[in-house]
Amino acid sequence: MALTDVTTGEFRFTHITDYPPLVEEIWRANPRELIFPEGNAAFLERLSKDFGGIHFSPVEESYFSKQAKERLRSLKLWSGPEGEWDQGIRAAGAIISFLERNSPEVLKAIGCLQHYRASQYLMIDETTRHNLELLRDFQGERKGSLLGILDKTMTPMGARQLRQWILYPLLDERDIRQRQGGIEELVGDYEGRQDLRCTLKGVQDLERLASRIVAGNATARDLVAVKESLRALVPIRKRLQKYQAEIFALIERELSDLPEVVELVEQAIVDSPPPVMKGGGVIRPGFHAELEELRSVRSNAKGWIAQLESRERKKTGIHSLKVGYNRVFGYYIEVTKANIKLVPSDYVRKQTLANGERYIIAELKEYEARVLGSEEEILKLELSLFAEVREKVASFYGKLKQTALGLATLDVFLSLAEVAQSRHFIRPRVDSGLTIAIREGRHLVVEAVLGRGAFVPNDCHLDSESHQILILTGPNMAGKSTYMRQVALIVILAQMGSFVPAAKAHIGLVDRLFTRIGAADSLARGESTFMVEMKETSRILRDVSPRSLILLDEVGRGTSTFDGISIAWSVAEYIHDAFCRPRTLFATHYHELTDLALTKERVKNFSFAVKEWKGQVIFLRNLVEGASSRSYGIHVAHLAGLPPSVIHRAKEILKNLEGGELDERGRPRLAGVSEAHDPAQIMLFTSSDYKLREELKRVDVSVLTPIEALNYLHRLVKEANREGQ
Ligand code: ATP
Repeated sequence: MALTDVTTGEFRFTHITDYPPLVEEIWRANPRELIFPEGNAAFLERLSKDFGGIHFSPVEESYFSKQAKERLRSLKLWSGPEGEWDQGIRAAGAIISFLERNSPEVLKAIGCLQHYRASQYLMIDETTRHNLELLRDFQGERKGSLLGILDKTMTPMGARQLRQWILYPLLDERDIRQRQGGIEELVGDYEGRQDLRCTLKGVQDLERLASRIVAGNATARDLVAVKESLRALVPIRKRLQKYQAEIFALIERELSDLPEVVELVEQAIVDSPPPVMKGGGVIRPGFHAELEELRSVRSNAKGWIAQLESRERKKTGIHSLKVGYNRVFGYYIEVTKANIKLVPSDYVRKQTLANGERYIIAELKEYEARVLGSEEEILKLELSLFAEVREKVASFYGKLKQTALGLATLDVFLSLAEVAQSRHFIRPRVDSGLTIAIREGRHLVVEAVLGRGAFVPNDCHLDSESHQILILTGPNMAGKSTYMRQVALIVILAQMGSFVPAAKAHIGLVDRLFTRIGAADSLARGESTFMVEMKETSRILRDVSPRSLILLDEVGRGTSTFDGISIAWSVAEYIHDAFCRPRTLFATHYHELTDLALTKERVKNFSFAVKEWKGQVIFLRNLVEGASSRSYGIHVAHLAGLPPSVIHRAKEILKNLEGGELDERGRPRLAGVSEAHDPAQIMLFTSSDYKLREELKRVDVSVLTPIEALNYLHRLVKEANREGQ
């Protein structure tokens, strides 16, 4: 798969060998248009099911040919190796062929092809991205999302880069620490940070400007924007040189202040050029001698025409005589009706108005020709001078792009440092262990809504040894979902290199983040809510890895209680027994699942504390070890106004159900397994049944008649009953 963004020149490819990861990668890239070889109807059908809103462009197979690949080399877009990357490079070649045929003007703006590996980053699938509200909240808005809270960037390039950081959290400890080092230094330098942010405010979208310049679409205003932006680089570079963190030296090296570009634009283009070139007025006076001459011809002629009015007034004695201009007649002399008798004979009438006449004279037309002629030439010359300047600036495209990326990165650092300080984040320890230990973690979006004091922080400890699966129970509204999401967001933030909302955090790197949260159906795809739920769960179980973090919220809720509990229980057991031992948070209303901890050593129960006070349930929001004592569903039903008799009966039934939770051996009933699986149950009789076993050994079943057998069984039962009394 290869992808490009023609507005920024981004051009990269990766290798994907299976359909599901391909879908994930397409989701992550979020393209407007998909180009693929035609003739594969099944593929197209599958794609259109998965990507409703994208424009599909099936193209001939030849777009992906060897020649297309060669074209990449001849355009100097790729000089690296091919070999195992052949397919990805062909896809990139197809993009180039497509652009050559459909929008050749943008080709120049396409940057060099880069290779990337999806496995270099924490894999977050589309469902998870949606569930965790990474880029948009559930209302579809940006402001309630992770991006919305983190985005304090000053430039559009920074905002785009931040989005990438969220979508592609890192897996390399060193890279993460490098980012943390940068943020730490900026957090400690409030003044410098504000200075830098203030300077960045004056920087325009250099990335897009550069693309427009090289594609030949840039206006004079764009060039002035580039000049102003480049000017900001001098103080930025100076400030960066003072910092110690390694990352700032790298960023500083990416920034070029390009004095030659600044000087050229400064000399050639006026400070505030008009938005369009049509009327000229773009080239600065003094820049070009010929242009100056033409301009003086024009202004002399205009001056002459301006004087004509007073001269003619004197000459004719018509005080109201006016010289005017319109597009149809050009320059004219206007005389009111009352004065028409005073008009000299060399005046040629051109137009009659309601209260006057318009005339021309030979001299006026001669000067008019000079004005218009010079104007045309001026415009032509200005256009060609401007194109020359733009061309020269375009020759710095590579450096401009690199500078834009450097600035974007700096902007993201400043934004994350700003958020880290204002929202009291700390630097997490990130390593390749498998422990996730968070003290007083917070959900940054919920906290932002509630206010800092109102949010109750909670701890989390997950590992693959003793705390692999945490079963979270607690009534509705207790905070289970918030807690799970908060742990996931802290992991994402930590691996982005950001600081995190906690008092202390130790994050053992996560390579895949899975969530099964909430109920969403996909009726358009012909799938019910429960079907979607099960599909998501099965994907998680299939793709999970030792470094995965799984969040399961209410698995099995979409079907009947018994089916639901059975599935939830069995899924939890599967995860526990899985060789890779993924770290898992499992929130549930099925109170029965807390019994899992009795049979599975790495399952631990946690619950959200509530307090009952004067018949009210008060949510304390803090997580405590142990299962929640009850689920409070009936209490909520009572609050909601269900009739007392219904509530009473429900309580009775609950008691019956809860009474039957453990079997005669004190093991949770739900934990029972069929004979074939549980060695403990292969023994039909326990050691205390010795007498019975001996008795049975003496019986020869082959000689017993049915009636004898029945009598024998009857005797045994009677004896057993007598002994049991
Ligand atoms: P349900 O079981 O009904 O899905 P839940 O236990 O998952 O409920 P959440 O949806 O996580 O509960 O939380 C409900 C509300 O409680 C949140 O919208 C938030 O306003 C508040 N809340 C959650 N956690 C906290 C917290 N730690 N501190 C303060 N308020 C919180």
